[in-house]
Amino acid sequence: MQFKNTLDFAKQLDQQDVLAKYKAEFNFPKVNGEEVIYFTGNSLGLQPKIAKEYVDEVMTNWADLGVEGHFNGSKPWWDYQERFAEPLSKIVGAKPSEVTVMNTLSVNLNLLLVSFYRPTKQRFKIICEEKAFPSDQYLIQEQVRNHGLDPATTIVEVKRRPGEHNFRTEDILQTIQSVGNELALVLMGGINYYTGQVLDMQAITKAGHQVGAYVGWDLAHAAGNIKMHLHDWQVDFAAWCSYKYMNAGPGSASGIFVHEKHHKSNLPRFAGWWGHNKERRFLMEPAFDPIQGAEGWQISNPPVLSLAPYLGSVAMFNEVGMDALIAKRDTITAYLAFVLQDIASQVHANFEVITPAEPEQRASQISLFLHGQGKELFTYLMQNGVIVDWREPNVIRLAPVPFYTSYQDIYNFGQILKAGLV
Ligand SMILES: *Cc1c(COP(=O)(O)O)cnc(C)c1O
Repeated sequence: MQFKNTLDFAKQLDQQDVLAKYKAEFNFPKVNGEEVIYFTGNSLGLQPKIAKEYVDEVMTNWADLGVEGHFNGSKPWWDYQERFAEPLSKIVGAKPSEVTVMNTLSVNLNLLLVSFYRPTKQRFKIICEEKAFPSDQYLIQEQVRNHGLDPATTIVEVKRRPGEHNFRTEDILQTIQSVGNELALVLMGGINYYTGQVLDMQAITKAGHQVGAYVGWDLAHAAGNIKMHLHDWQVDFAAWCSYKYMNAGPGSASGIFVHEKHHKSNLPRFAGWWGHNKERRFLMEPAFDPIQGAEGWQISNPPVLSLAPYLGSVAMFNEVGMDALIAKRDTITAYLAFVLQDIASQVHANFEVITPAEPEQRASQISLFLHGQGKELFTYLMQNGVIVDWREPNVIRLAPVPFYTSYQDIYNFGQILKAGLV
């Protein structure tokens, strides 16, 4: 498509957009009395209007039924989380038995590492990416120390090449091969939070398995953003938060994936009564008999109030489908890239796009590295109704979310940006 950086053209794209009507299904913050242009759906997704209905339903059941809500609520609480299996499995490319929702993301990664990081004298190393999201770095280090090992000699970081912003798949595969039979686990972010680079999860998973390691993914930026086939790719485990692209609200519950091949394997884990055989859960038996599926990793009864907005959001994803979201995502991200380029050709622009240009390595996010005028530009955008986020040392991340970003938003953003560049 031949793009144009004009209001008429943006309006025309909006008219052709089959998802355009969903913008009205979300609540937008206001700045200077006007609804903002919201580019931080990769940090906290906007509130779907339907979320309040789902939360109110739980609150009403609780008020009216007290403890009876566990079994007699309009959506009973004891198996509230089971409503996620089917729709979430479609979003991440899994079988329903391979996914569930519980706890929060970093907690879940810790729990999954209890099962999937089982170092031996010979096979003990973990590969992750250089400058991974801090929570992932900390939790990997402490898991390693928990096994009495030294993070410095156990964790192998894949590096970017000097002067480059993104990882090369060949370098990741090469690192896996060189660690070889010392490699216990590969754990990386499926999409890099800083640059928005989408990693080749299929190839990396395969390479990890070829040397005999487990491979798990942090899908914080991938869930609800890209198409995945976790089951077919033979991924061992994965976890994601629900409050970024999945619009489930601050600190809402996390999703996990455990591949079917591990369901009967009796892997060691941290346990609690909600992972126990469902039919026998309330018999209060002494021996743990894990559910054969992702649910077998549950510990506590579900955080229903935190799950409620997530369930509303998942219903919206299911209605629209990942294919339609991805089709718009590609066009609107490409349009944003075009508008940025057009502006750079008109005024002195001090930004560099560090997100890969290749469509298979890019999703809903474009990261701008600012040379010079940095924080001032961020503050200017925020004051002018464009909500973006700032990452040290000098990066502004823009996420045009297909559910609620319009092409006019992109055009308007371009005009505001242009006026702010000095
Ligand atoms: C957002 C994000 C997290 C957040 O973890 P919480 O436990 O939900 O606070 C972790 N890892 C990555 C890669 C993220 O992008």
